[in-house]
Amino acid sequence: MCIFCRIAAGELPASVVYEDEHAMAFLDIQPINPGHVLVIPKKHAKLLVDLPPEDAGHMMRVAQIVDRALRASELRCEGVNLFLADGRVAGQDVDHVHLHIFPRYDDDGFSLHIDEEMRKPPGRAQLDESAKMIVDAMDGLE
Ligand code: AMP
Ligand code: ZN
Repeated sequence: MCIFCRIAAGELPASVVYEDEHAMAFLDIQPINPGHVLVIPKKHAKLLVDLPPEDAGHMMRVAQIVDRALRASELRCEGVNLFLADGRVAGQDVDHVHLHIFPRYDDDGFSLHIDEEMRKPPGRAQLDESAKMIVDAMDGLE
């Protein structure tokens, strides 16, 4: 069993903030900011696309509950980031889908480094070309 399955089964300790039949939310052991929560489906799946849509949708419903709680809590929280690393190259270290939710505030030290070159607007033709590739792929999905 993976570590998050073991947490869901109660075999490993976790600081749980929410649990129901299909999902669980607990504190990340290496928080970006105090109150950094991970929401997981109880069903094991590595990638978001491996998850039944109901479980994926439910994970987002739980995220919304956690988000509201963070904002209402005594933790410092002036905004919230949600982050899902879907695949190794995308930064996924634990092979069980999990959604990071963490409080943000002014000068908290967190930032994403994005190369300026990457964000240069590519122009409509290239955007449309990428859009076509996605739409063509969608048409091929079940
Ligand atoms: P990711 O890099 O998106 O796969 O995130 C994995 C996250 O899981 C990291 O932020 C870790 O700090 C966190 N993590 C790993 N093991 C545990 C654990 N036993 N309990 C809580 N969080 C964990
Ligand atoms: Zn698992």
